[in-house]
Amino acid sequence: MRSLTEPEIRASFVNCTKGEASRARLPRGIDELDWAGLDFLGWREPGAPERGYLVAEFEGRVVGVALRPAQRPGAGRGGAMCSICLTAHPASGVALMTARRAGRSSTEEYASAGEYFCSDLACPLYVRGRRRAAAGGARMSESLDAEQRVARLRANLAGFLGRVVR
Ligand SMILES: [Zn+2]
Repeated sequence: MRSLTEPEIRASFVNCTKGEASRARLPRGIDELDWAGLDFLGWREPGAPERGYLVAEFEGRVVGVALRPAQRPGAGRGGAMCSICLTAHPASGVALMTARRAGRSSTEEYASAGEYFCSDLACPLYVRGRRRAAAGGARMSESLDAEQRVARLRANLAGFLGRVVR
């Protein structure tokens, strides 16, 4: 994705209030990030791990999504897989991220969309081999090369963003 500035990131959020977007703590060092190697920028809020965020390009614009991470039920046993990048982790390495859908109040039906993500929201690093899952996850033989894994990640992410935005 193209590089973004802090004001662009704050202005991109589609599913939280302006106040929440202005209070969100951004990851450090966004000026030095390898943006070209990211399909989305995702992070857990430093000091407030119950809040997560992701920012991505979607349908020609920058879309920021505030997330509520929840540990997977039964975490601590067995393995789990991220639904976005399909990286296998120990169960604690995957978290259900729930997003309020843009333009809906919390009491509406289908007000939120959820998906299992790598709990550190670092999917782009895993598919490129820049970060490795902790041992303990199921090891899968993966026949796709990095480029195909990136394409799959982007398709899965677009599906999630479509549910949040529409
Ligand atoms: Zn992932």
